[in-house]
Amino acid sequence: MQRYQALVIGLGAMGAATVYQLAKAGVTVAGIDRHHPPHTFGSSHGDTRITRLSVGEGAQYVPIVRESHRIWRELEAESGESLFEQSGVLVLTSSPDFDPHDASDFTLRTLKLAQTYGIEHTLLNATQIRQRFPQFAHVLDSAIGYFEPEGGFLRPERCIDVQLRLAEQRGATLFKGETVTGISSDEQGVTVTTNLRTLQADKLVISAGNWAGDLLGSPFDQLLSVYRQQLFWFEADAELVGASPTFILTHGAGDSNVNYGFAALPGEGSLKVATAQYHTVSTPDTLDRTVSPAQGQAMYEQQVQGRLAGVGPTVVKSAVCAYTVTPDHHFIIDEHPALQHTLVASPCSGHGFKHSAALGKAFAQWCQHGSSELDLSSFSLQRFAIPST
Ligand SMILES: Cc1cc2nc3c(=O)[nH]c(=O)nc-3n(C[C@H](O)[C@H](O)[C@H](O)COP(=O)(O)OP(=O)(O)OC[C@H]3O[C@@H](n4cnc5c(N)ncnc54)[C@H](O)[C@@H]3O)c2cc1C
Repeated sequence: MQRYQALVIGLGAMGAATVYQLAKAGVTVAGIDRHHPPHTFGSSHGDTRITRLSVGEGAQYVPIVRESHRIWRELEAESGESLFEQSGVLVLTSSPDFDPHDASDFTLRTLKLAQTYGIEHTLLNATQIRQRFPQFAHVLDSAIGYFEPEGGFLRPERCIDVQLRLAEQRGATLFKGETVTGISSDEQGVTVTTNLRTLQADKLVISAGNWAGDLLGSPFDQLLSVYRQQLFWFEADAELVGASPTFILTHGAGDSNVNYGFAALPGEGSLKVATAQYHTVSTPDTLDRTVSPAQGQAMYEQQVQGRLAGVGPTVVKSAVCAYTVTPDHHFIIDEHPALQHTLVASPCSGHGFKHSAALGKAFAQWCQHGSSELDLSSFSLQRFAIPST
């Protein structure tokens, strides 16, 4: 039976970063994935992921994303690949319900965090938004915008591919197309069984994405919910290509009135727009991975028409991807309550990619030293009252 210092289950955003950092630190490591990452069955596909230093989701994320930005550049230098496009991020609210004192407004939260942490930004009024970003010509007079020049987007598939390649070059073993079916532990370490082999290790990191609830059982299956999301690339005017920032637009109350999108990229002629839905729960096995023309039309009418100038109704491309969300929408990163020597990283509730490079480093440190330089205590399991089965 093969034995390693560390094993990693799931080689998506989190797992690829962990395997890379472990291999870089000279740890003998093997990674296992049921698919062939980067792939289109989990949470890490669709060409682009937003990254921003002022993480409106919470102050605890700021040191993580800062470290990630540093690592993406390090990875670019090592691989020669472009991973992080610093297009700037515009977070804006243009809503008839906008209340400038509403502490829950995402733009205001982002602004406040940037002010607290000294993150470079510009605060824009409606006239300035329209002048600077003509695709937002339709914003209401009450609109406000937060522009962060250091933000932008990541190329998720490339980030995963680069880290896995560099990990292999540094001696990591990757078992792809192989599904983990059993995990056990004792004083000596962990034993992981796949459909093809059994492996042993001193430490185990589990980053199984949408499948984590099924693989880990209680309490994770009660805490993790999978939500199908749709991504659309709409045809965009030539003037928008290369000119548009990555953006998050709040145009009303509730999740269905928030959308986000990316710079129209040279050579693609389209602009990606998406929303987040948290009302219909799914599973990775039953997820409908097709998108109908009616769904594309609904997205255009509700999110694009009258909101994004220069973006037409023709859907150039579409995709389905899934979030796995905890009850408070924050991450779970903690030692497994029953398995010894095992760290669990939840798939991060729809906002984890930007943090994955630094989290992978933190997980590698946990494997080596039992703790990490980054403070991950706010992601502990203990914050949840676990429902009894
Ligand atoms: C539509 C969408 C938009 C998003 N936008 C953003 C954004 O703009 N910015 C941002 O920061 N984040 C964003 N996120 C969130 C981010 O992409 C995720 O948090 C992150 O990709 C999750 O990575 P992961 O490694 O946990 O999961 P994944 O990348 O899905 O990896 C899990 C891996 O585990 C493998 N696996 C599962 N079970 C087993 C098993 N039994 N045996 C072996 N292998 C197994 C799977 O094959 C998979 O490769 C978005 C997510 C989605 C879906």
